[in-house]
Amino acid sequence: MSPGYWPFDKRCAVLLTFDFDAESDETRTAPERIVPISRAQYGAAVGVSRVLRVLNEFGLKATFFVPGWVVEKYAEAVRGILAGGHEVAAHGYMHEKASELGETQERAMLERTVHSFRQTLGFQPSGYRAPWFDLSSRSLKLLSASGFAYDSSLMRQDMPYLIKGDDYSMVELPVEWVLDDYPLFEVHRKSPREVLDIWTSEFDSLFEENLLFNLTMHPEVIGRPARIAMLRELIRHVLSKNDVWITRAGDLAEWWLKNKANL
Ligand code: ZN
Repeated sequence: MSPGYWPFDKRCAVLLTFDFDAESDETRTAPERIVPISRAQYGAAVGVSRVLRVLNEFGLKATFFVPGWVVEKYAEAVRGILAGGHEVAAHGYMHEKASELGETQERAMLERTVHSFRQTLGFQPSGYRAPWFDLSSRSLKLLSASGFAYDSSLMRQDMPYLIKGDDYSMVELPVEWVLDDYPLFEVHRKSPREVLDIWTSEFDSLFEENLLFNLTMHPEVIGRPARIAMLRELIRHVLSKNDVWITRAGDLAEWWLKNKANL
């Protein structure tokens, strides 16, 4: 991609995204196991406010993907996120894996998700990220029919791209597991130093090629103090490049659709 591709002559686009799952998945799958539930609750109890503090310190706007169930249960926290100028987009109703649902169930899940946003927050979310980055073969069509303008769950490129079906099209803001805090910290048990090293080299290379750096984090994972300190260090590094466009996913999708989708 040529330098100057992005608005304001920026050389790289950066999305800081946070999947605010709280204990939606654990409550759905194993409501009797209160220890995993408590661990997931760390996101709502501690993580979100630490993340917001960091974003505020640097004056950055981010996107939070939130399951409908969490929108309802933690309405105050979600309103606080919106009040900070951040985007709130959808992330399933109770953190379902779409590939495990039948069509009727998936349709109902999406309806319930959109309803929770409309009812609790008063708006239709424009973006969607599949819990577990797990979409079914019919999800994109259903998402488009449910009014979503963009998705951020697929991995085919490292730039925004258009996903087209017979009777729909949506903007895709692609992700990758290496840019997700969950597997690095919770599965591979990397230290903050190691993750900083991985993410910094990913960012530097994407920056050099003028591509999109789309980082997925979870308040219950990144919210631990040593990891929050690492996130601050990463942001300082990103900002040291000066010509980086750090924005919200919805803004990026809208700009890209208007200016680049047909090129
Ligand atoms: Zn999630």
